[in-house]
Parts: sequence; C-alpha cells; structure tokens
Amino acid sequence: MKYISTRGQAPILSFEEAMLTGLARDGGLYVPQEIPQMSPADIAALAGLPYEEVAFRIMWPFLGESFTEDEFREIIAKAYASFGHAARAPMVQLGPNHFLLELFHGPTLAFKDFAMQLIGQLFQVALKRRGEKVTIVGATSGDTGSAAIEAFRGLDAVDVFILFPHGRVSEVQRRQMTTPSEANVHALALDGDFDDCQARLKDMFNHFDFRDEVRLAGVNSINWARVLAQVVYYFTSAVALGAPHRPVSLTVPTGNFGDIFAGYIARRMGLPIEKLVIATNRNDILHRALSSGGYVTSGVTPSISPSMDIQVSSNFERALFDAYGRDGNAVAQLMDELKGQGGFTISQGALQSLCETFASGRASEEETTATIKRLFAETGEILCPHSAVGVKVAGEHMGTTPMITLATAHPAKFPDAVEAATGQRPPLPNRMADLYERPERVTRVANDLAALEALIKERRAS
Ligand SMILES: *Cc1c(COP(=O)(O)O)cnc(C)c1O
Repeated sequence: MKYISTRGQAPILSFEEAMLTGLARDGGLYVPQEIPQMSPADIAALAGLPYEEVAFRIMWPFLGESFTEDEFREIIAKAYASFGHAARAPMVQLGPNHFLLELFHGPTLAFKDFAMQLIGQLFQVALKRRGEKVTIVGATSGDTGSAAIEAFRGLDAVDVFILFPHGRVSEVQRRQMTTPSEANVHALALDGDFDDCQARLKDMFNHFDFRDEVRLAGVNSINWARVLAQVVYYFTSAVALGAPHRPVSLTVPTGNFGDIFAGYIARRMGLPIEKLVIATNRNDILHRALSSGGYVTSGVTPSISPSMDIQVSSNFERALFDAYGRDGNAVAQLMDELKGQGGFTISQGALQSLCETFASGRASEEETTATIKRLFAETGEILCPHSAVGVKVAGEHMGTTPMITLATAHPAKFPDAVEAATGQRPPLPNRMADLYERPERVTRVANDLAALEALIKERRAS
C-alpha cells in the first residue's frame, strides 16, 4: 500500500514513512492510493470477535510491507491493554433507535486514546528497527496532549514535549499531562493561548535546522495512522447492530474532522453507512460549508466543548480531495484561497458528492447544556459536553435506520459543564481516582521560539 498527498506534489510514501512524516512536504495530507474493500461476508465474519481481532483485520490491508503480522498483532494487544473496559468501545442504548458508542474508556478518558495508544507502539517498533530516535512536539487545548503523553511515556525511542496554554486547560486535563513521572515526558505550560502554542509548533517545523537536529515528529490528527486506528470502531459498532445486513447512520462530534473522516473510510471500504452526520458546536464552519457551499473562516469562540473549538478542520482536505475526483491541483488551489482570502466556495459537483455521505447540524451552548440535562433525566446517562452536541444533532437526523452517536469523552473530564447541567459532579473512574494526589511536574515557558528550542535541545535525551 502506498500513500499520496492531497496536493499531488509530495513523494509517494509507504505506511511507515507517511506515519513518521505526518504532514506532506507540499503542505498536503497523506491518503492511501486505493481503499481496501471488505465484502459483506468479510464484514459478517467480524461479528462477536474481540476488538483487537477486528482491529487487525481492518487495519492490516493498509499497512503494506511496513510491519510483520506478528509485530502488528502485538502492537494492537499492547495499545488496548490499558483500557478500562473489556469491549474497548462498548455501546449503550439511549432511545428506541438511538445508541451511544462510548469511546472514553482509554487511559485519558477521550477517544483520542484509540489512535494515540496505537501510534505510540507503532512509533516504538518502527524507530527501534531503524535505530532512530525522534522528538515529538505537540500543541494541545487538552485532550490530544494528555493522550500523546500517555501513549509515549517511558518509550525509549521518543522524547515527548507538549505545549499547553497556561491556565486554560481543565484541571483533569492538566494533571493528566503533569503527573506522569517518566523522564521522556515534558509538559510545558506556555504563557499564551492555544493559538500561540500552535503557532510556535509550526515555527519549529518551519525552522529546518532545528527540525533536523532534534528529528522533530508530529502526532496531530492529520497523521494518517491516527485516522486509520479510528476506522475500527465504526466497524465494531455497526456490526453489533446488524451490519452488513442492516445499515446504520452515525453522528460524530466534530472539530478537526479526523474522527468522522475515519467513518468515511469505513464507508468507502464497504461498511453500509447511510449517513455520517457532522455535529458542530457554535464553531460551525463545517455545518455552514455543507449547508451553503461556502467554507469561510470566522473567529473561534470558546465553548463548553473546547476540544471542538476549531476554525480550520484540517482533515476536511482529505474529503475534498475525493470530492474533487482526487485532483491535487484543485485542492492546492482551494487551500491557497483559504490561506489568502480566508475561505473558498466548494464546486457544485464536489458539494453534491459530499452531501451523498455527510449531513450536518450544530448545537448552541444552551442546547448542549439542555441535552445533558434531558438525557440524565430520561436515561440516567451522563454525557460530556462534546457527546451532548452529538446527541442533540443526532436527534434531528433520526429515521428508521439505527443511529449511533459517538461519545468522545468521559463526563468526569469536564466536571464543571456537567455539574452546571445536572447538579451532579461526575467522579473519575476508580483506576485514576488518585489523580488529584499525584505530584505534578511542569515547566512554565515564555511564548518565545528561541527559548523553547533551547529548552527542547537541552532536555531531550540525545
Ligand atoms: C478531539 C475531540 C473531538 C473532535 O474530534 P476531531 O477528530 O478533531 O473532529 C471531539 N470530542 C472530544 C472530546 C475530543 O477530544
């Protein structure tokens, strides 16, 4: 299997190379050259299998020569061993035809663990074989950073540095980043906001001397390996509800479009998904784009579902690439317009193609809170605010096809929003009940590129 860039000008890479590279050199995103197919019989055969076995069967055809079968099975086993639920991604029922897919049983209580735990193991095996080490630097508004630290802690081929905005992440998120004690973990509290963190990270990637010296690697959600890991639970959940004999629809709380794009890949592989519903909070660029054809940025407004407070949904480029008939030049032109003019218009044909697969909706802050409150009263289920955005939007797309809404984080990760809606402060799961007692280790850093680079060079184990 080979990987090509959505902008058509970067080298064609193997799975392993695409994973270690992250962003393509032409600024595009890597996608598989073709999509492996699962026949109805292949899909039916997944029924009742352990999550790890389904994960192997779904992902293996995308890997090509990069890993041996035994290696990859062991990687999967290690990746999901730390999850707090034997099913890994269990489902509960919310209503007659509505199901909630709980993706928050991983070590940091958000769905990002599904991908991050896997790529931690993939990086370790690939780098060991190559005799190489890398420095991972990530910027986070909360969930990505904690998931990355948890995935890479203690791995000897990797140093991991996470920049988070000082004073602007929830206490649970901060403690998940500052309490791991391994020497290769470095939590950096930057004096600035999330955009500053992301800007400094971009500066480091564009500073080639530094980038090469420390072997900088990225694990943000445009990394193809992260998308691939997320394809698996679309299969397990749909099969549990009767696929391939019965189609399903899914609603996905969306920010950077990485999670829902994995659903799109599952559909392209042959999983009978009727509709993939994009659920946005008040930062609703995707909902506006699908409704009007205009993909136009406006400022980010903070919300009670902060992991979806995103202006430019990076992975949407991958969907556009297919909608434009895999024309890399056309995509490059749109991205130039986005950069230069703050937006672009999706062509009629491409919009029509997107709307065959995707529907969309948005939830205001009030609607999100009201949904947490209503679900608690009706079912006893406590939703995190991101999942509540999904449940609200799913309600507008119910039909005869079963609807699965993805629950992307555990409510205990956002206790203030949940308490405001329900009067209940959701407790942390037992396995991390001592989070508030563990000692914290964090370095406060100025919003200054040279100082940051000096710190990283000094701290990493060379
Ligand atoms: C990251 C995140 C999202 C958004 O997922 P994307 O892949 O960026 O669309 C939604 N909910 C939670 C809790 C998240 O951490």
